[in-house]
Amino acid sequence: MGEIWKGAPVAAALCASLTGRISALRAAGVEPALAILRAGERGDDIAYENGAVKRCEKLGIAVRRVRLPDDCTKEEVLKAIRQVNADDGIHGCLLLRPLADRAAEEAACETLLPEKDVDGITPGSLAGVFAGGGRGYPPCTAQACMEVLDYYGCDPAGRRAAVIGRSLVIGRPVSMLLQRRNATVTMCHSRTADLPAVCRQTEILVAAAGQSGLVDAGFLAPGQVVLDVGINVGPEGGLQGDVDFQGAIRTAGAVTPVPGGVGAVTTAVLAKHVVEAAERTLSCGP
Ligand code: NAP
Repeated sequence: MGEIWKGAPVAAALCASLTGRISALRAAGVEPALAILRAGERGDDIAYENGAVKRCEKLGIAVRRVRLPDDCTKEEVLKAIRQVNADDGIHGCLLLRPLADRAAEEAACETLLPEKDVDGITPGSLAGVFAGGGRGYPPCTAQACMEVLDYYGCDPAGRRAAVIGRSLVIGRPVSMLLQRRNATVTMCHSRTADLPAVCRQTEILVAAAGQSGLVDAGFLAPGQVVLDVGINVGPEGGLQGDVDFQGAIRTAGAVTPVPGGVGAVTTAVLAKHVVEAAERTLSCGP
């Protein structure tokens, strides 16, 4: 039987590493602060926002919630983003997506300052993920995958990895982060030929397709580390990952559960990025 790699201890360790840094910021007169922009009343957005607020406030990170109408115009979104950009008291901004108006969303991503982009949505942040360096941050979920590997002592260097999914939110950035840590990465998608065989040949498998139960025994190899990023609503309303967990745990070396795996680390990464953004303002000076 493989190990179950839960997200809660990873998040707890991350948060524990932030408390001293937050105290140091406060001692230097900086209260780390996050703005969360939400359009409309979608249940999953509200749940994620509430989770982020709880995590941040517990740590001593201030949160400002900004509400926009569901059908907000590009001008309304950009006004809110520009206010965040101009506010020296706000260090990070989380824009809950997708917005109903895709053009407004794209404009928002292009307008947010990369140094306040704590969830990797701006072209500047993504350029940093792909080219290294830069002023922004990787998307929180992609970084959460790396935090899980680090916490449980899985060094990607020299290992073969497959990532199922190539979105800019997860698949592509996590592929780049793994490659930067010297894994040899195959980025898979809906047109990948013989996907199970490609996945079977790897030591690390990241499933981020949004397809319940896609990853079955045919994808897995003994000892493999399987990170299940998928969040799908099952027939009875519960959450399911992309991986057939019961099957995977019999073959793989370690599997993250859904819920309670990678997703449980995401808001801790968000908090870490806000703290880093606040620290950067100190090192920049007045
Ligand atoms: P997305 O934009 O829909 O992208 C899905 C990707 O998976 C695409 O690249 C698609 O390939 C690929 N794909 C879909 N079906 C496939 C199949 N049968 N075989 C191989 N590849 C397949 O989704 P996303 O935003 O990246 O999210 C992916 C999943 O992660 C969703 O379940 C989402 O809810 C979840 N998620 C989790 C967190 C978290 O905190 N854990 C955060 C955000 C999202 P093509 O490019 O060829 O279409």
